[in-house]
Amino acid sequence: MSPDGKTIALVVAAGTGSRAGTGAPKQYRRIGGKALLAHALDHLRHPLIDEVRVVIGGGQEDPYRTALRDQQIPPWTPGGETRQESVRSGLEAIFAAGGAGAVLIHDAARPFLPAAVIDRLLKALEESDGAVPVLPVVDSLAHSGLSLGDPVERSSLVRVQTPQAFRFGPILEAHRSWAGASPATDDAQVARAAGLSVATVEGNQMLEKLTFAEDFERAEQRLGGGLVSRTAMGFDVHAFAVGETLWLGGVLIPHNRGLSGHSDADVALHALTDALLGTIGAGDIGQHFPPSDPQWRGAASSRFLEHAQALIEERGGRIDHVDLTIICEAPKIGPYREAIRERIAALLRLPADQVSVKATTTERLGFAGRGEGIAAQAVATVRLPEQS
Ligand code: MG
Repeated sequence: MSPDGKTIALVVAAGTGSRAGTGAPKQYRRIGGKALLAHALDHLRHPLIDEVRVVIGGGQEDPYRTALRDQQIPPWTPGGETRQESVRSGLEAIFAAGGAGAVLIHDAARPFLPAAVIDRLLKALEESDGAVPVLPVVDSLAHSGLSLGDPVERSSLVRVQTPQAFRFGPILEAHRSWAGASPATDDAQVARAAGLSVATVEGNQMLEKLTFAEDFERAEQRLGGGLVSRTAMGFDVHAFAVGETLWLGGVLIPHNRGLSGHSDADVALHALTDALLGTIGAGDIGQHFPPSDPQWRGAASSRFLEHAQALIEERGGRIDHVDLTIICEAPKIGPYREAIRERIAALLRLPADQVSVKATTTERLGFAGRGEGIAAQAVATVRLPEQS
C-alpha cells in the first residue's frame, strides 16, 4: 500500500450498548464463550495489519482486562463522550506513539470481519485518502409516521460499515478540525467534511453490527452449535519440464527443472485449493480459473488459494486445518518445509500450527518415482454455519 509506515487497527469499544438487552456494555458480552471485543481482535489478525489498539470507555479498564484475560491485551486509550471524541483520542494516542501510515477504524460491535474486506480497503487507500465498506440497501425504505408508504428511492443509498481505512495524517487532521454541529456517526463523515477523498469498496453481510438482543442470539447460534465441520480432499499432478521455475506451496525452489502448466503450475497450492473448494462444494480449480482463459497464463497460484479462502469466508466459514502431502523423488522438500508452511499460513491467514506440510517419495515407483513429475494431496477442514 502506498502510505509509508505501519498499518494500525483502532477498535472503538467505548459504547454503553444499552439496546442489547444487558446491563454490561455489549463489547464485553460473551458469545461463543468469548467477549465480543475478543472476536473483533481475532478477526484483525491479518498479514497487512502491524498493530492493534483499542479505545475503551471511562472506568472500563477492569472489564477490558477481564474480557481479554485469555489473550494478549492490546494497548488501550480511554474514550470520550461521543464516538468521534473516542476515535480522536485513539488517533492522538497513535500519534503520540510515533504515528502510522494507515489506520483502520473499526467498531467492536462488528466482530466478524472477513480478511478480504481488509484487503479491499487497503488496496483502495493506494488511490484515496480513505475507503469505506458499503452494501446495497435491499429492503424497501419509507419514512415512518404519517407519511409511511411514501417510497424512498434506495438505488442511491448504501449501508456503510466499518472498518473504515484512512491515511493516518489526513484523518488525524480531519478529526482535529471537526466542527460539526451534531456528533459524527462515522469517520467517513469527518473525512469528507475535511475535504478528503473517500472511496467505497464492497462490504460484507458478516460485518453487520450487533445491536439488538436477537443479533446476539443469531451470532451465538452461528458460533456455537450452529456450526458444522466439513472435510474435503484435493489432488493434483504436474509434469516436469526443462526451462520452467519450480513453485511448490507458494515458495520458489531452486531445482534443475520446474513444473509445466498453464499457471505457475504450483501443484501443492492446486491440491490445497481443490480441498478448500471441496469443503463448500464449490467445484474445482479448473471451473474457477479455466486453463482456456489466457488471463491465468503464468498466474501465481497463491491467487487461486486466496480465492478459495475468500469463498469460505463469504459463507461465514473458517478454516480449521489444512494438511498437505507433496509426493516426489526430487527435490528434497525437507529444507523448504517450514517456508512452505509459513507461506500457506500467511495466504490463508492461519496460525502455522493449523497448517501441516509433509513430503514423501514413492520408492522410485510410478511417474513420481521416475522423476517425471510431482503429485500433491491435500485435506482441508473448515467450520461452516449450518444453513450455509
Ligand atoms: Mg494443477
